[in-house]
Amino acid sequence: MAIATKKSVDLLSKYESVIGLEVHVQLLTKTKIFCGCPNIFGSEPNSNVCPVCLGMPGALPVLNEQAVEFAVKASQALNLKVNETSIFSRKNYFYPDLPKGYQISQFDKPLSEHGYIEVTAAEGTKKRIGITRLHMEEDAGKSMHDGFVDSDCKTYVDLNRTGTPLAEIVSEPEISTPEEAYEYLTRLKEIILYTGVSDCNMEEGSLRCDANVSIRPRGQKTLGTKVEIKNVNSFRFVKQALEYEIERQTEVLEDGGTIQQETRLYNPGEGRTYTMRTKERAHDYRYFPEPDLLPLIVDQAKQDAIRATLPELPEAKRQRMIAEYGLTEGDAAMLTATRARADAFESEAKKAKSAKRLANIVISELQGRLKAAGLELEDSPVTMEGARVSADLLEAGTISSKILKELYDHAFEQKVDFPVIYEKEKPQQITDTAEIEKMIDEVLAASPKQVEQYRAGKTTMIGFFVGQVMKASKGKANPAVLNELLVKKLS
Ligand code: ADP
Ligand code: MG
Ligand code: ZN
Repeated sequence: MAIATKKSVDLLSKYESVIGLEVHVQLLTKTKIFCGCPNIFGSEPNSNVCPVCLGMPGALPVLNEQAVEFAVKASQALNLKVNETSIFSRKNYFYPDLPKGYQISQFDKPLSEHGYIEVTAAEGTKKRIGITRLHMEEDAGKSMHDGFVDSDCKTYVDLNRTGTPLAEIVSEPEISTPEEAYEYLTRLKEIILYTGVSDCNMEEGSLRCDANVSIRPRGQKTLGTKVEIKNVNSFRFVKQALEYEIERQTEVLEDGGTIQQETRLYNPGEGRTYTMRTKERAHDYRYFPEPDLLPLIVDQAKQDAIRATLPELPEAKRQRMIAEYGLTEGDAAMLTATRARADAFESEAKKAKSAKRLANIVISELQGRLKAAGLELEDSPVTMEGARVSADLLEAGTISSKILKELYDHAFEQKVDFPVIYEKEKPQQITDTAEIEKMIDEVLAASPKQVEQYRAGKTTMIGFFVGQVMKASKGKANPAVLNELLVKKLS
């Protein structure tokens, strides 16, 4: 359903879309949320299970403190207010991957509420997307429909995932476009990765997203009927599924129809969504407080202790780095894309003669060459340490920026680090004092006016003389020797 005609473009501007996202994040605890089974991915099916997570009658859940701490940490990073008291509830439904017949979740009293994520919206403006709540819950098992010899007639169940701790993060219906949804997810994942409470690996299912979308005539206050698109397994597909769904809903309304509240599935191969089931309502789940668990108390002291473990978060880091190293927004975003990358840069920046110079080289010498080679910063032949060595050489005047560029070209061609290529190709330096003295004499003799100015107190002229001698030596004069001799001659 491509939008090709002028008419359909007009239609898209007649309506506006409203999007709300529900994101499930698996918490990286050692054990499951209510039992001692290992919380790891990729084990032999049904090997990490026990009576508690298998839902045997009489088995009792015990809440994992680490899971609570991780969920609180994620809440704080997302600007959510943590409730001192929250309540676990049973969400009742039948499904083969849910042996208990209910999922322990949080319902009317979630762990935290009223947060937000700042995103860059259209035209580069900043926009806050509200986060309604973050609640804790256990994951269900996994139905396996493919990959077995009898998959045509049987579905298998792997219960290893049952009881994995999840944080569900629910946004307000405040996202306006599929691009904004993509941006929200990118920022959310980045923040969670910085906190270290989840690896957010979408392939392994440790980050999953349900996208809710409705449309309404532009300017209308009330929300339209929403459709929920379940379990889309990449951010790009979320964006594509939303784009498709907005077009579909627009056509339905234009044809005089009404939108059905329902759950749909996205098929990335076909680029379209399909009805999965008409949407159940909260009362269908017969939520009630979990009788086997006490209310969860996270008092202020505990909240403060957890807050103290929060790292500097991406947005704060970006703003600081822009101020500290004179970076642009885009360059700061590149350098802070992961916490490891930002740390690698900053640990060298601390050692560098000039941190700004290092930032400059990473942006101007590394980034462009990496992009051309389709590489990430982490795969660069020139390491962050190598880049710092080059920055220091440039800062000290030992090499010129022209030679630096050449050395970078060769380092990338030969796939070696900067210090390696520098040792191999470094310009033969002139350290012979007599030879340098001779060049200085010639320069001074040729610039009597400047010498006069220098002697009259304008000592900044030294830079001019250094430049002249460097030029005469084709950049090979040893800068330290040159400086020393110059000062001596001029005084
Ligand atoms: P449900 O009970 O169906 O799960 P919720 O009210 O809990 O619905 O909302 C689930 C998600 O759907 C939230 O992210 C919310 O922002 C979003 N949402 C709710 N109403 C709409 C709507 N009319 N259009 C788009 N998104 C919506
Ligand atoms: Mg929902
Ligand atoms: Zn278990």
